[in-house]
Amino acid sequence: MNVISIVQQFGTQDSCISLLEQVKWQGKPYCPYCQSEDVARRIKNNENVGRWNCHNCLSAFKVTSGTIFQGTKIPLPKWFAAIAILLNAKKSVSSCQLARDLDLTQPTAWYMAMRIRKAMQEDGAFLRGIVEADETYIGGKPRGPKTPGQRRESKKAPIIGAVERGGKVKAISAPRVTTKLINHFLRRNIDPRAMLITDQYPGYNEARDWIYHERINHSKEYVRDGGIHTNTIEGFWALVKRAISGQHHHYTLDWADRYIDEASYKYNTRKSETPFADFMVRACGVA
Ligand SMILES: [Zn+2]
Repeated sequence: MNVISIVQQFGTQDSCISLLEQVKWQGKPYCPYCQSEDVARRIKNNENVGRWNCHNCLSAFKVTSGTIFQGTKIPLPKWFAAIAILLNAKKSVSSCQLARDLDLTQPTAWYMAMRIRKAMQEDGAFLRGIVEADETYIGGKPRGPKTPGQRRESKKAPIIGAVERGGKVKAISAPRVTTKLINHFLRRNIDPRAMLITDQYPGYNEARDWIYHERINHSKEYVRDGGIHTNTIEGFWALVKRAISGQHHHYTLDWADRYIDEASYKYNTRKSETPFADFMVRACGVA
C-alpha cells in the first residue's frame, strides 16, 4: 500500500462515502434503528452527503453512524489519508507530523489518530502453539536531577505482552506489574495447551500450575536448544518503543495502550496484502 494511491482514489467526500457504504452494507443499505431496507438516499444540492431516510420508521441516518467517523466534521478524504499514513508508518506518526501532512490543527490530528488507534484494538482469540511472554517498561528512564519544585519525568509505564511464534501478539500496559496481573493476562490470552516461554522473573512462577512452561536464564544464555528463547517478544518491544519514542512525552504514558494497540495491530496484520481495506472493515464496525 502507498499513501498516494489512497489519496488519489479517495480524494473526494463522495468517493469516501461510496467506500463506506460498500464496506458497511455491501450494496444493501438498511436502517440502523429498525433494520428496514426501505431506505432512500438524501441528495443535497445534487451531492451525495452520506445521509439516508428510512421510509419505515422515518428516521434519518448517516453511513458514518457507528463507525470511527461518526459525528466528525473533518472531511473524509483527510480521515482516509490519516489512516493510510498511520498504517504505513513503521514507527507511527506524531500528531504534529500528521497535522502538518494534512493541514489540520495538532489537537484535531491527535484526536483523529487516537480514534484510529482505538479501532486497532485486538480481539480476544487465544494465542496457541509456542508462546513467548515478557514484560518491559516504556517512557524512558528518569530524566534530570530531582530539584524541589520541579517535576521529574520518572513515570514509566510497564507493559506485559505475549506472542505466538509466527502468529499474533497481545500486549497491555499496567500501573504495576504484579504476579496477579501477569497471571490474569496470561490465562486470558494463552491457550492452556500452548507451550509458554519466559525468562526467570518470579512473576511467572504460577504459570506452571496450568501450562507447560519453559524458562530461559538470561544471565546465562539467550537461546537454548529446542528454540527456547524470548527473542520474538523482545523484537516486538523494540517496535513499540520505536513507535512511542517519536511521540510527545506527556502523551506517551497516559495513552500508552493506544500506541501498544497500534504496534500490535501492525504486527498482527504484517502479512496482509490489503491493509487499508482490512482497516476499513474495522473502522465501519463490521469486524
Ligand atoms: Zn428505520
